[in-house]
Amino acid sequence: MYIRVTEISREGMDLTGARGNSWIGNLLDGMDPSPLGSIRILSAALFLSLEGRDLEASGSFVAEGECSCDRCSDPVNVRMEKEFRTLFVPRDHGPAGSADLELLPDDLDLGFYDGAGIEVNDIFWEQVVLTIPAKVLCREECRGLCPRCGADRNREDCGCPAETGGTPFDVLKTLLQEKE
Ligand SMILES: [Zn+2]
Ligand SMILES: [Zn+2]
Repeated sequence: MYIRVTEISREGMDLTGARGNSWIGNLLDGMDPSPLGSIRILSAALFLSLEGRDLEASGSFVAEGECSCDRCSDPVNVRMEKEFRTLFVPRDHGPAGSADLELLPDDLDLGFYDGAGIEVNDIFWEQVVLTIPAKVLCREECRGLCPRCGADRNREDCGCPAETGGTPFDVLKTLLQEKE
């Protein structure tokens, strides 16, 4: 969704107030969610305001994605959320054009725009990508697939010899088996 700077009033523009909630559904259309298999936005907010020709965007989102566990390849749901503030400076200003940019507060990111308007989807894509995890486990202690026979070791004990020394638990199990 494209917003022209001329649409933004002096008080700023609250996207949800100005457009209802319909803009949220299509926000991530066409985005490559990899390594996630899919991604959708659950809620989002965005406030745009102008300071001269500089455009400040502050917003937040909650998104949910699906991918496979890195060890056992079971499906996993991932939840991502973030708050952000970005100051978009007209590209024709150039980074050297505004000397006071060096005084930007820490929580304010810097971006560029053409000075005429901004694509809201791009703002969110950039922020959502930052929250996508590179690796996901179904749970911290996931035992993964057996590298020898491919069995899901969370569900069954295939009995293949462990590739490394084994855990204390394995040693105990061996002792118990020997008693039988
Ligand atoms: Zn797993
Ligand atoms: Zn095995």
